[in-house]
Amino acid sequence: MNLRHAGIGMTSPRTRARLIERLRAEGIADETVLAAMNEVPRHIFIDEALATRAYDDVSLPIGHGQTISQPYIVARMTEVLRNGKQLGRVLEIGTGCGYQAAVLSKVAKEVYSVERIQPLYERARKTLRELKIFNVNLRYADGTAGMPDAAPYDGIIMTCAAPALSAVLREQLAVGGRMVLPMGTQEQFLYLIERDENGFRETRLEAVRFVPLLMGKQ
Ligand code: SAH
Repeated sequence: MNLRHAGIGMTSPRTRARLIERLRAEGIADETVLAAMNEVPRHIFIDEALATRAYDDVSLPIGHGQTISQPYIVARMTEVLRNGKQLGRVLEIGTGCGYQAAVLSKVAKEVYSVERIQPLYERARKTLRELKIFNVNLRYADGTAGMPDAAPYDGIIMTCAAPALSAVLREQLAVGGRMVLPMGTQEQFLYLIERDENGFRETRLEAVRFVPLLMGKQ
């Protein structure tokens, strides 16, 4: 592993381990998720000037008006999506810097992730390659309509908030699959959508704050 990946001081494995303990204290109980969070060096996904805050439990700017999600939220969404089981194929809408996709790559066989801002897509690509993560397929596109060509997915995760659930997107969920997404405009909540033979079931989870889902490419 190269030195930057290994980290020192505020980016060291010890600092990362403290974050994992904090996530555990905040209620993340899935050991597979905690192990994945411990494995992925979050400081590599953000600007070096912010690296000392990489293992604080906060969201941070990544440019273009976007943010890297708070570690607790990444862990929580991954835990809800996994539901204690190994995931096959997962779709993410909103790659951003690629951190959530990297965490997913440790708990799923294959990850597909869509981003509408080209420089973010390119940077995420470079970072994932640098970390030798090869089971994440990135695409530069408007993810509003999902990615039908690789559907159905065992899991779908949205890291930007839509006012309502898209029927096109939920149709890409496999029977037995789960989708986790923030919804709402002024006030946002995390939702779990489960699909079975009879249809879809929606459960409202906690209040959250995400950047909005936007249309078109940039
Ligand atoms: N997953 C990221 C969070 C990124 S923030 C992480 O690991 O921290 C949400 C991202 O969603 C932003 O990069 C934003 O550009 C993207 N986004 C918003 N609307 C989108 C759309 N329609 N299609 C694809 N990506 C979108």
